[in-house]
Amino acid sequence: MLQAGLAAGAAAAVTLAPVAFAAAAEGERTQVITGHLPTGAADFVYLPVRVPAGVREIAVSYDYDRPAVPPGTAGNSCDIGIFDERGTGLGGPGFRGWSGGFRTSFALSRGAATPGYLPGPVRPGTWHVVLGPYQVAPQGMDYRVEVTLRFGDPGPAFTPSYPPERARGRGRAWYRGDCHLHTVYSDGRRLPAEVAAGARAAELDFIVSTDHNTPSSHGVWGPLAGPDLLIVTGEEVTTRNGHWLALGIGPGEWIDWRYRSRDDAYPGFVRQVHRSGGLVVPAHPYCPYVACQWKFGYEGADAVEVWNGPWTYDDESAVDSWDARLAESLRHGRPWLPAMGNSDAHSVPQVIGLPQNVVLAEDLTRADVLNGIRSGRSWIAESAGVRLDFTATGQGRQAGIGERLTVPGDAPVDVRLEVSGVPGGTVRFVTDQGQLHQESLPASGAGTVTWRTTASLATYVRAEVRHPRADGTPGQGNTMGPDLPWGPMAALTNPVLLQAAR
Ligand SMILES: [Zn+2]
Ligand SMILES: [Zn+2]
Repeated sequence: MLQAGLAAGAAAAVTLAPVAFAAAAEGERTQVITGHLPTGAADFVYLPVRVPAGVREIAVSYDYDRPAVPPGTAGNSCDIGIFDERGTGLGGPGFRGWSGGFRTSFALSRGAATPGYLPGPVRPGTWHVVLGPYQVAPQGMDYRVEVTLRFGDPGPAFTPSYPPERARGRGRAWYRGDCHLHTVYSDGRRLPAEVAAGARAAELDFIVSTDHNTPSSHGVWGPLAGPDLLIVTGEEVTTRNGHWLALGIGPGEWIDWRYRSRDDAYPGFVRQVHRSGGLVVPAHPYCPYVACQWKFGYEGADAVEVWNGPWTYDDESAVDSWDARLAESLRHGRPWLPAMGNSDAHSVPQVIGLPQNVVLAEDLTRADVLNGIRSGRSWIAESAGVRLDFTATGQGRQAGIGERLTVPGDAPVDVRLEVSGVPGGTVRFVTDQGQLHQESLPASGAGTVTWRTTASLATYVRAEVRHPRADGTPGQGNTMGPDLPWGPMAALTNPVLLQAAR
């Protein structure tokens, strides 16, 4: 029976036989559902629950076996969530919460819900508990789901408090923000208040809340925002073929994640985010964890997260492929994809704001910050301690990060980087030909590096500032060898484009 459901539809799913509850005036009733899922059964397994009238609260707990597996073989791992009587349709109104594999139980009622779940009416009809068998051992997975309905008066409704769409800015200025953060509303261990405090401690001007697959935290950020901190609502959309950030979606808006690259559903959700004025940003595209590598391509994306958390080798891959796409986009006269960096911080000791985007925005508002990111007028810093200014000047004209300088092809163009906060750092100027200039910073970490080129020689110029390598040497960017020629990234700019005037 399980196998029969596999052939059709988006993200293979199966629906089991429903369980029904008799109505009651008070008290509670519990039903237990058990079953076995073979390896490769389905991405999602739907357990229909017929909910009668008069239910005050639905509570669900679950467990599954974890048989021993040889090293290198996936063991059992199963996510859970719930849809209400409005159905399980892709992107539909029935979504009521998801806790991934982070919790073993949850409950929801009109006035309250476990973080990750949406408080609201518990109406009669067929609800669905959803299992997401993420990894299944060769032996299969035995699961047990316990559903308890509590009857009685539903009590007062939950009132969400969404964050305001502007903070007290400095007008047109560079603003710092971390656009990929988790809380206890998905699989982080920080409360939203702790994330807001961490953002202030990191000297950030804005953050985007991106819990996995649920907007349930949106309604609690209101009191935590303030004149000094803009909080933007978002979601990290966690598909089986990679994760993407939906930045700046509407308060309470939910973006579905139940599809793979092969399913054709992704472009519709990209359009949904764009209709809401938000940004689509593939996250950590080369992260080696299961289902984390990006397989949807970059069409429709507004930026790409090339730097995720402390600098690691997968970030090198992300920067390399982003750099290659820059030249390709310019060749076709298409918009180029800006780079972003975010912490993806979940819990202590992960550092909020490592790294962060420094964005040129007209003011500290949701729309202005998103515009700055979309236009590539931003660079990435490992902390608020790193500052830089990057320009290209020719024929009396100057362009900054994300801007275009149009000059005769053979006219001298002076590229200038002023940087501080990277002791012994290495500055690299990279064009469509690769690294064309390298220079070390003094122990003070501050310096100015200049280099002359032309629009004929370089289609774009971007800057990297690297820390020294583990052995203390700066490295040499144009060499080959068994080790990376550079140390970890301290700052990375979007390009200045150079165009030869005709
Ligand atoms: Zn992710
Ligand atoms: Zn994340």
